[in-house]
Amino acid sequence: MTASVSDKKARRNLQSSTAAKINELYDSQDVIKLYGINRNTLLNWIKAGLAYIEGEPRLFLGADLNTFQKKRNGNSRKNVGAYEGYCPGCRTGHSLLVGDIRVKPMSTGNFRIYRACPDGAGEAGKWFSKEELAVIYQLRESNPGA
Ligand SMILES: [Zn+2]
Repeated sequence: MTASVSDKKARRNLQSSTAAKINELYDSQDVIKLYGINRNTLLNWIKAGLAYIEGEPRLFLGADLNTFQKKRNGNSRKNVGAYEGYCPGCRTGHSLLVGDIRVKPMSTGNFRIYRACPDGAGEAGKWFSKEELAVIYQLRESNPGA
C-alpha cells in the first residue's frame, strides 16, 4: 500500500511514458503539445537521444517517444543535489547557490526557488521550507562564486 503511494509521488511532474500512441507519427508541434513543453526542451530531448525521422517536417514515432520518456523518468531527479533545482530541459540539476534566482513564496509557507537554465532550456526549480531558504541565502553569501 505504501509502495503505491510513493510510486505516485515519484511520478509527479514527470512526463508519462505512455502518453503517445505507439503507431502514431507526431510532428514537433504535436510533441510540444502532448507533453506541455517548449521548443528548447524538445531540442534538448533530441540531443539527449530522442529518436526521430528526418524530413520536412521532422517526425517522431509514438513508440520512440514512450521509450525516451521511460528512460528519462528512470534516471531523472535522483541526480539532483540538495541545493539544485531540477531542470526539465537538461534533465539534471542546476545549482541554486550561484547565478540569479527568483524566489516565489507559496501560500503553504514554503518557497519555490527558480533559476534560469544556463543553456536556455527553461527554468530549474525546487521547493524549500523557510529554514532551508535561509540556509541557501547564507550559502550564497559565503560562496565567492555567487
Ligand atoms: Zn537546464
